[in-house]
Amino acid sequence: MFENLQDKLDRAFKVLKGQGSITEINVAETMKEIRKALLDADVNYKTAKAFTDEVREKALGQNVLTAVSPGQLLTKLMNDELANLMGGTVQELNITANPTIILIAGLNGAGKTTFSGKLANFLATQKNKKPLLVAGDVYRPAAIDQLEVLGGQINVPVYTDRNSKDPIAIAKAGIAEAKKNGQNVVIIDTAGRLAIDEEMMNEIAEVKSSTNPHEILFVVDAMTGQDAVNTAKAFNDRLDFTGVVLTKLDGDTRGGAALSIKSVVNKPIKFIGTGEKMEALDVFYPDRMASRILGMGDVVSLVERAQMQFDEKEAAELQKKIRKNKFDFNDFLSQIQQIKKMGNMKDLMGMIPGVGKAIKDVEIDDNAFTPIESIIRSMTPHERENPDAINQSRRTRIANGSGTTITEVNKLIKQFEDMRKVMKQFSNPAAAAKMMKGMP
Ligand code: GDP
Repeated sequence: MFENLQDKLDRAFKVLKGQGSITEINVAETMKEIRKALLDADVNYKTAKAFTDEVREKALGQNVLTAVSPGQLLTKLMNDELANLMGGTVQELNITANPTIILIAGLNGAGKTTFSGKLANFLATQKNKKPLLVAGDVYRPAAIDQLEVLGGQINVPVYTDRNSKDPIAIAKAGIAEAKKNGQNVVIIDTAGRLAIDEEMMNEIAEVKSSTNPHEILFVVDAMTGQDAVNTAKAFNDRLDFTGVVLTKLDGDTRGGAALSIKSVVNKPIKFIGTGEKMEALDVFYPDRMASRILGMGDVVSLVERAQMQFDEKEAAELQKKIRKNKFDFNDFLSQIQQIKKMGNMKDLMGMIPGVGKAIKDVEIDDNAFTPIESIIRSMTPHERENPDAINQSRRTRIANGSGTTITEVNKLIKQFEDMRKVMKQFSNPAAAAKMMKGMP
């Protein structure tokens, strides 16, 4: 995400590189480039102009410290202002009421149903909540099916009434059902339309007034750029929603919607969707996103994603196994699966400072682990637990079974053995100390 903007901002900063100080002239030139970069990213003109005027004024008002180069100073100013533009500080969901009612609104295809599932999963796994999903799209039976499938995947119950065409009655019945069963968050997925439509607006406004939701989240496809901003305005005028969810940011390289929506509707972006999987949801932190746009990485989010997948008990077990040199192919497979759950590889690597820019044009294959997984899956349970027992004839069988080659199988086993050696050394403090001594 945001690759194009990163590139252009980089170029704008070059104007200042090598300049000893900030002057009217070099700032004006840089601001012109930055404004161009923002307009190319599909930020609306008014927002882009207000933004560059603000940065310019702040830059000229600064006494440049000798220790900081003009480029560094401007990066810092840009970082602060970009974060401000996107809402400043993080806006948490209001989920204290029991039950909390959350209404999901947006056009068809924006990602409402997917987000409803992701949100239920987030609340259940991260916030210790017991959510109920309510299928309120009475026009598309497929939407009800889709929500039921998602609910099944994440183990969250779904309330449906396939005989009713009345979204208000369904929403109310869903809330009653949640109260009866002790579910403390009700997420109501609603029907969208292909475009803004009076009937849809009336319908959702009625659902709003009859359910009194604590949160109304407007879901919009970030890839639609300025259209996303216009749609947000129309929905907000009618619904006065409490937050925005930007979906498909994984496919949006320009980022215009993320940058302008807050300043146009004055409502915070609360979540971003970065993929089709249930885990591909992030709480939106304006400051972290600003750093990512400026290519400064986002280590905090990276660590948090890792922590989300990290199970302390499992980790302790793993350590014990490593210490006893019992780390086997089953453990290896489960590690690969945890990494995969963290999300899109390129997106993850982009969170490492400096790496985003470097890998911008590199294709990173999310399926890189597939051959490794099929090789391990073609091993018998005995082989997985006893890697040393995998002799030549077994290797040939594994290669045939996994649709790979004997060279690939040999390579994986060799890498696995090397890895075990290193692990073993580091789990034995004396041996590790000896090894370190030998290092330059
Ligand atoms: P709805 O009509 O608003 O309920 O939209 P859906 O939830 O059915 O989503 C429409 C399509 O967008 C589906 O194919 C989803 O898998 C896809 N989608 C939703 N959110 C994301 C996202 O964050 N990233 C990507 N790449 N696809 C998404």
